[in-house]
Amino acid sequence: MNPLAAGIGYLTAATLATAPVAAGPPDPAAGTWRTQARYLMGTVWTIEAQGRDVDRAIDEAFTEIRRLDALLSTYRPESALSRVNREAGRRWVGVSSETRELLERSLGYWRRSGGAFDPTVGALVRLWGFKYRDYRVPAAAEIDAAREKVGAGHLRVDPARGVRFARSGLEVDLGAIAKGYAVDRALERLRAGGIRAARVDAGGNQGVFGPSPAGGAWSFGIRHPRAEGEILGVTALARGAISTSGDAERGFWRDGVRYGHIIDPQSGRPVRGMLSVTVVAPTAEQADALSTALYVLGTERGTRLLEEYPDCHALFVAAGSGPGDHLLAKTAGFDIDIAAAR
Ligand code: AMP
Ligand code: MG
Repeated sequence: MNPLAAGIGYLTAATLATAPVAAGPPDPAAGTWRTQARYLMGTVWTIEAQGRDVDRAIDEAFTEIRRLDALLSTYRPESALSRVNREAGRRWVGVSSETRELLERSLGYWRRSGGAFDPTVGALVRLWGFKYRDYRVPAAAEIDAAREKVGAGHLRVDPARGVRFARSGLEVDLGAIAKGYAVDRALERLRAGGIRAARVDAGGNQGVFGPSPAGGAWSFGIRHPRAEGEILGVTALARGAISTSGDAERGFWRDGVRYGHIIDPQSGRPVRGMLSVTVVAPTAEQADALSTALYVLGTERGTRLLEEYPDCHALFVAAGSGPGDHLLAKTAGFDIDIAAAR
């Protein structure tokens, strides 16, 4: 039976979470379950948590997410990152240690992924219209010109001086990691607020701790990248995070070709041949960064990269040979119940 019919919640983003199931006898010491949703960072966030004073803890978690949006958004001209993008081509721009460390870790993912994950991909994202949804297929000369403005090798991060671009026109875009980072910070706030169990859901990025409302691990339906409302299977997670990257949430069709919002920095073009990649990891930041990197690298090279991350596991959904076909591949540690989708 399709679990959607059995009440698995359907959300707009790529990774679905099961709807809370009524728990056993209420345990007054554990506190009540509460769910709140807000629109932040361009997506719907849902926080589901159990504890005493649960409403206040959830509010504080949302305040934390709003703080990070104000810091890291490239849609807000007043954000720290927008200021970096405006000024770091001309001079060193001072940033908070939090921003600097996130940029340093982003450079780490860039290096380890051989450039597949690139936090300076902004000029290409903009050129293809993924930033403001004014989609178009640029001419080869435009792509070449934008590629000159991309490359994390031109991004300098210094503990004392801040951030500087070694090439003008560089544009930092943390769209592939910021939500994951914010999920981790929100979970931390919930823990600090005495929460016993929680799920933070930013659509394609989610993290959990503690027992689920049903009592054990949390279940996630992995959305079929092409069939609206269908799932490929269900994966269970006792703790940690899950992230899906794909071309379903943002992209456009032109002449029967799907152009998704994840760009291969090497070609300057949207990745072809992959439909989605889901990564399970100890932290949401890792899951987020790696799902994007693996989407660019594809099944074989992606699997090789994961050998460096023994606690991270992936499910690859690649395009098949015929229209509408897809090929599933996963690393050994990725548990998925395919039968649950039938
Ligand atoms: P995600 O949904 O986490 O895979 O992130 C996708 C977003 O990250 C896109 O909308 C872009 O803003 C940005 N992006 C696109 N291609 C890359 C890339 N190769 N490396 C890092 N960020 C990217
Ligand atoms: Mg990502």
